[in-house]
Amino acid sequence: MKFGGTSVGSGQAFVRAAGTVAAEASTRPTAVVVSAMSGVTDTLLAAAQATLGATDRTKTGATLEGSLAELHRSLYDRHLQAAREAVGSELLPGVEAGICALLASLTGSLTGGLHACEEARTAEIVVHGERLSACILSAAIASRGIPAEVAEDPIATDSAFEEAEVEVEKTRVRCTSNVRSVLERGSVAVVAGFVGRDGEGRCTTLGRGGSDLSATVIGRGIGAAEVWILTDVSGVLDADPRLVGDAATLPVMSYREAHLFAGMGAKVLHHRTMEPAAAANLAVYVKNSFEPQKAGTLISSRECGAGVRSVALRRGLSLRRSDVPGEAFCVLGCGGDGVLSLVEAGEKSAGEVAAIVGIGSPTDRDLLSGLRSLLEAGIGHRWVGNTSSGVAFVVDAGDATDALRVLHASLLGRGAKIEVSA
Ligand code: ADP
Ligand code: ASP
Ligand code: MG
Repeated sequence: MKFGGTSVGSGQAFVRAAGTVAAEASTRPTAVVVSAMSGVTDTLLAAAQATLGATDRTKTGATLEGSLAELHRSLYDRHLQAAREAVGSELLPGVEAGICALLASLTGSLTGGLHACEEARTAEIVVHGERLSACILSAAIASRGIPAEVAEDPIATDSAFEEAEVEVEKTRVRCTSNVRSVLERGSVAVVAGFVGRDGEGRCTTLGRGGSDLSATVIGRGIGAAEVWILTDVSGVLDADPRLVGDAATLPVMSYREAHLFAGMGAKVLHHRTMEPAAAANLAVYVKNSFEPQKAGTLISSRECGAGVRSVALRRGLSLRRSDVPGEAFCVLGCGGDGVLSLVEAGEKSAGEVAAIVGIGSPTDRDLLSGLRSLLEAGIGHRWVGNTSSGVAFVVDAGDATDALRVLHASLLGRGAKIEVSA
């Protein structure tokens, strides 16, 4: 069971998460992966940046001592407050000591100079967010009478500190010794998400949002039957709910669809979450941590039939035509005048176009129906056609959100279904 940042964002959220774990763990062995409390990863990354190379003053001109003290105080207050709400009185002193030890270790990482590179230093700093959560959640579970302990980092990776590659066989060995052993002695194993260890034992990270990937990597490593990803929405929705008001939960999805959807930027799943899941045939449930009894979305190997089932929006792209195939986000086609592709516009530019991609098993009818709905809504298109990810509609960047809503309605059959004659 993996809990994201909002799902452990407060004392009450830890109480809810611990209750959900306790209910499952009383029926079957359960390992838990936990993210940093919401916002903590951003705070730690900002602190890593501000203090890089600082001896007396940070990059913002504040004194180093003052900044470290302020960071320590705010993290201590937030985590101790959460622990007070979620942990029973007998276990609270141990959790407070654990929080203090982790904050001392954080200060050491922020001020210590011995790192292989900047990315290694950042990884060592940022993983403290997940470790603080694991310390509180294990005690919150134990406070419910279910034995629980924090497991040693089980994920073995290479040394790409910012977005490390998982080493599957070494991870399996570490999962057996660090996680299965805990389960076998009847305890819940609580693992800090997002964290890996390279061959020299140094901390690495799996990239932003990487706790989802931790969950399926560990699921595969311990031979789990199911992985639950508990988040702040009711499963995987058929479009980004922040942009499409009537986006609906998908009851089922195939690994292939979920992989494409996450790869196009559906934030609910880290883009590589499905790789271990598909390799080990894990049943992945994405559920709302506020309503875990509801089914949410079940992701499995089962394909779900014809038609578009979800609609993704990818911004920050440019259309390029070139003679020689280059680095492309998506190749749209090639003809006498060269290769037409979508490329990432790069950090400095917002991009001139956006792509809306209908994922599932789209047919030519979907292409025509989507095109008709854009025309009827008065939205111009720059390119429309089938790609390896799905049926793609490339529009001007300024039209992206309107086009997403129109295409969601027409491709998923919501609102007035637009019939297209043959
Ligand atoms: P967590 O902290 O649990 O990992 P995230 O914030 O990383 O949660 O991901 C959940 C968020 O992803 C949701 O709150 C929602 O706004 C956003 N999101 C974007 N696209 C989708 C989608 N297709 N389905 C569900 N949520 C989505
Ligand atoms: N805490 C990390 C992040 O914010 C990892 C995660 O939440 O999945 O990116
Ligand atoms: Mg996430």
